Amino acid sequence: TKYVYRFGGDANDGGNGNKNLLGGKGANLDGMASIGLPVPPGFTITTEMCTRYYADGEVFPDSLRAEVANGIAHIEGVTGKQFGNKADPLLVSVRSGARVSMPGMMDTVLNLGLNDETVIGLATASGDERFAWDSYRRFIQMYSDVVLELDHGAFEEALEIAKEDNDYHLDTQMSADDWKALVAEYKKLVEKLWGKPFPQDVHDQLWGAISAVFGSWQADRAKVYRRLNDIPGDWGTAVNVQAMVFGNMGDTSATGVAFTRDPATGENAYYGEYLINAQGEDVVAGIRTPQYLTKAARERAGAKPLSMEEAMPETYAELARVFNILETHYRDMQDIEFTVQQGKLWMLQTRSGKRTAKAALKIAVDMATEGLITEQEAVARVDPSALDQLLHPTLDPKAPRDVLTKGLPASPGAASGAIVFDADTAERRAELGEAVILVRIETSPEDIHGMHAAKGILTARGGMTSHAAVVARGMGRPCVSGAGSLAIDAKAKTMRIAGRELKEGDILTIDGATGEVMAGEVPTVQPELAGDFGTLMVWADKVRRLKVRANAETPLDCRTARDFGAEGVGLCRTEHMFFDAGRITAVRQMILAENEAGRREALAKLLPEQRSDFTEIFEVMAGLPVTIRLLDPPLHEFLPHEEAEFEEVAKATGIGVVALKQRASELHEFNPMLGHRGCRLGVTYPEIYEMQARAIFEAALDVAAKSGAAPIPEVMIPLVATRRELELMKEVVDRMAKEVFAERGQSIDYLVGTMIELPRAALKAGEIAEVGEFFSFGTNDLTQTTIGISRDDAGRFLTQYVDKGIFARDPFVSLDVEGVGQLIEIAAERGRATRPDIKLGICGEHGGDPASIAFCEQTGLDYVSASPYRVPIARLAAAQAAL
Ligand code: PEP
Ligand code: MG
Repeated sequence: TKYVYRFGGDANDGGNGNKNLLGGKGANLDGMASIGLPVPPGFTITTEMCTRYYADGEVFPDSLRAEVANGIAHIEGVTGKQFGNKADPLLVSVRSGARVSMPGMMDTVLNLGLNDETVIGLATASGDERFAWDSYRRFIQMYSDVVLELDHGAFEEALEIAKEDNDYHLDTQMSADDWKALVAEYKKLVEKLWGKPFPQDVHDQLWGAISAVFGSWQADRAKVYRRLNDIPGDWGTAVNVQAMVFGNMGDTSATGVAFTRDPATGENAYYGEYLINAQGEDVVAGIRTPQYLTKAARERAGAKPLSMEEAMPETYAELARVFNILETHYRDMQDIEFTVQQGKLWMLQTRSGKRTAKAALKIAVDMATEGLITEQEAVARVDPSALDQLLHPTLDPKAPRDVLTKGLPASPGAASGAIVFDADTAERRAELGEAVILVRIETSPEDIHGMHAAKGILTARGGMTSHAAVVARGMGRPCVSGAGSLAIDAKAKTMRIAGRELKEGDILTIDGATGEVMAGEVPTVQPELAGDFGTLMVWADKVRRLKVRANAETPLDCRTARDFGAEGVGLCRTEHMFFDAGRITAVRQMILAENEAGRREALAKLLPEQRSDFTEIFEVMAGLPVTIRLLDPPLHEFLPHEEAEFEEVAKATGIGVVALKQRASELHEFNPMLGHRGCRLGVTYPEIYEMQARAIFEAALDVAAKSGAAPIPEVMIPLVATRRELELMKEVVDRMAKEVFAERGQSIDYLVGTMIELPRAALKAGEIAEVGEFFSFGTNDLTQTTIGISRDDAGRFLTQYVDKGIFARDPFVSLDVEGVGQLIEIAAERGRATRPDIKLGICGEHGGDPASIAFCEQTGLDYVSASPYRVPIARLAAAQAAL
């Protein structure tokens, strides 16, 4: 097997832009070199090597030595410099690069190849002693951190002390001699912390770095990132070794990060930052505040330091030319790293840029309009889950704001929550259901779990392309970065801002679209759903086959769902109406009644209430199908608990409190989710379902008479396991329909069907379909009963099950296609064999999950049903599944 692929010069080994093999960075370096863009020569060690490295117990095969030596020879050939040469040494960078980008998660080593001798050669050859020693100290610092895993704080401290001793504020004030002295300090530090001198052999350095990059694939932060982003652990990373180019060779040199369009808003304008006389890490790490790329952006921000467009007009023009070539070549917005070495532009990376949902929408719609991509490609480009960000509220522009300061608008969206100063606290408090805002001086990849747990992120340092900004945009978390007037004391858990002190737990609001930071909570408003969103949805609906309905039980939810494009209600859980404050006493009276007469008395009170519930829903959903599920939850859940509740029921029924408590303890269940619930209620107390069915038909006739648009009720029986259960319940429903139609002298069409949410029902679907006119897969219960894990308690161990690869994702979030999915396939097939036109849908949580929706498309279901806010997500996911 070939493990090393060369790029640059005349030796592109190709790999055909194969990201799976070369990783994203390697594939695109190869791609850029092959279309003639200026890329420093290098080679990529494949992801297959990473997989093999771990399979073999973290050792490299002997054959790799020769291949890497070949790769180095290639770089030497193109650059005319030699690795380890004392007179004019070749320096290289060693970087990770997985199939999909994992920003900041894995390791990088720059300036590799420097030692006590080559640094002198570099100084002579470049004619710049300061540059040579600056590079050497950078190399020692990075290598010690990444490869030797020494405490990087110690190195930073040494640098701070050196600056303080000289009364300097900026790194750029350090002279050649200052750097030289710091290198001596650093070497002492390495000996002290590592117990051995800093490695001088450049080949040892290289293999150390290669091992470290492969090793970083299994670092904790990389694992967390993979889990959050559903990246399989066995993909591995590639390693890219590439000739160094230097942005730190004086004022005609620079380094920068740029996007071909604005990744926050999607606006078609170059966007980015650069730093003169610096290396790439300086921009991303947020050590110095970077300068704007374009004049327009600088002016808009009212910033002074010249933009690249103004400071280096020729190089900027060349960069702009490259941007256009890259967008046309990759047909997507690109995120680019570049370096200018003494006026010459070099491209170090390009990839499809991470973007906010808003930007994703705008860029997809714009590019289709520009003719760069097709409408269908635009539909395929937008991640359905990301739409979530757009559907949620933003700050009410009319509400008063107590603005404390303004930082950079790094990731849009508004968030309010309690201030926390570290990622672990953020995670802990969020687990308890609290909204938190993570406030950090700057974020590092170690904070990723806290950023995910937080509602929003605020940092004191860092630009628009800092770690915090990039990660927050990717996750869809609102983020304000670089709020310079913020002074954080993480130990004391306080911060000072605009002369005011705030402490952990105080409420803060951030607006990631404007950069504003406000004290207290600011009210929010619903977003506008027109423009690009509407356009993309129209395109999506053109290709979608699956219908999309909503799980909704209130008129408000139904209206939201319709506004979002729902084509009916797929699940109206009637028990939500039973828990209503004004009704619960009557419900309890019904449950605790000793006999049928007592139950009927209570049900009579509930009938008009249920009828008006259904009337309102039918009105909102005029002309659309509405699936109403008859009472499902365990009786146990309705039992009174508190003394006052017993007294209320006693008053309503005339039964004494003691007798009521006796009855309640008889009804108590140890395993209510497998107990007296679902159609078992209807079988034992048919009068409950009678009342519900009557309410449905009366309401339907009322609405039909009033509006002319007759609703299409689909009466659904829950938790059916056998044909006979459904047959009994259908008799009840049909009898009520007949009664009501006779009373009114009018009738409407309706269906009676069942949920398929028990494995037995799935297996016996052929028989059940003899009675049932539709199936709706209740994948919450079907997952619970198929895998045998509790919906309510599994959270405690499921994370570990995902970490250990037992499940790729939480099966309650994303359908276990192989297991639960197989039962769905069986049921669909057997149901159709009996009743070819049987209507099939899904109404578990999975109905709003894009991966599960793809499965529903494959299985040929008729519709998915999701919560109202997920309806647009489901529409887009259904369209993508059909493409
Ligand atoms: C289900 O079980 O998937 C379902 C939709 O019903 P519920 O969640 O109400 O049990
Ligand atoms: Mg269920």
